[in-house]
Amino acid sequence: MARVVFQNIRKEYVDDKKGTFTAVENSNFVIEDREFVVFVGPSGCGKTTSLRMIAGLERQTSGDIYIGDRLVNQMHPKDRDIAMVFQDYALYPHMTIEENLSFGLKNLKRPKDEIQRKVKEASSILGLTDMLDRKPRELSGGQRQRVAVGRAIVRDPQVFLFDEPLSNLDAKLRIQMRVELAELHKRLGATIVYVTHDQVEAMTLGERIVVMNQGRIQQIASPTELYNRPSNMFVAGFIGSPAMNFMDARIERGHVHVEGASFALTDAAVRGLKAYEGKSIILGVRPENIYGEEYAPPAASAYRLNAVVQVVENLGAENLVYFRVGQRMVTARVHPETTAQVGQAKLFAFDGGKLNFFDPATEERIV
Ligand code: ATP
Repeated sequence: MARVVFQNIRKEYVDDKKGTFTAVENSNFVIEDREFVVFVGPSGCGKTTSLRMIAGLERQTSGDIYIGDRLVNQMHPKDRDIAMVFQDYALYPHMTIEENLSFGLKNLKRPKDEIQRKVKEASSILGLTDMLDRKPRELSGGQRQRVAVGRAIVRDPQVFLFDEPLSNLDAKLRIQMRVELAELHKRLGATIVYVTHDQVEAMTLGERIVVMNQGRIQQIASPTELYNRPSNMFVAGFIGSPAMNFMDARIERGHVHVEGASFALTDAAVRGLKAYEGKSIILGVRPENIYGEEYAPPAASAYRLNAVVQVVENLGAENLVYFRVGQRMVTARVHPETTAQVGQAKLFAFDGGKLNFFDPATEERIV
């Protein structure tokens, strides 16, 4: 059983200039056996530090870490039965691919035939069989990345740790490698913990995603759950592109009022927003849940708002139309044939079943 458990993990760095800095605060999670979990968040949020603590490359200030059934707090990285793939691949440039793949096993003094078998298996899985005699500089970025993964596979670890492994590849190759990694996970049936700052990578790879900000876990959920029910405004704004729109709103007698419009709330929303009667809230709506009225589904007809078009971006398959509600700019991702001209007053319709409500003070989701 290769579960990874964090219990009340805290990590402080002591820096001469900054003093004591808390990089990870009160981190708790259970990554299940064979699960693919992605840590995502902006630069500096503590995701690499969390990964390095699992690996044992960084020691937590307090709290407990379990891998499988073992408490690994004091355990050396090499005894944790993990393999880590780094962003820069960390291949040995003077060694051939075969030597790079077998190096770790030779160090562990494994029998020769076992090493040969594992290198053969890994290179066949990763399509590296014809390149075993080459040196890393003779490979493309994507091939080097596969060697780095291969080096982890031959060790047959309980847990794979990936630290932004695709960030040095161009956009097209990144998509290709993303698909390969997802397939590899199915094939190996291994526990994978994967760090990225790219929310698209997180959404496509992760069975569950841990969203972090400023050293704190914001939400742990499946991609669908994160997208549809973000637990606060940070998650709502971080996951999804273009980002969720936020509007200043007010709740009154079963309606939500924003500048220029008033929408009747669904029964569920009325119940959830009871404590906010007469108060300010933040209304969150995803760009794809706003329509130009000519393409609005019937369900959206009761949620109309008149606004002046500020910017139109034609992306081919869709148009992005920007307008203002109060002080805030709102983006609608509309049908490509929606007519919208800059300066024109236009009716937009919102999908009333897909409204999100947040508390303006705590920024937490209300309903
Ligand atoms: P990135 O995507 O930029 O790699 P990250 O989310 O992985 O960011 P971490 O590398 O975990 O972030 O760093 C978290 C915080 O801890 C950052 O503010 C960073 O500056 C700080 N930090 C990391 N390592 C050290 C260190 N050795 N000494 C002092 N501060 C550190």
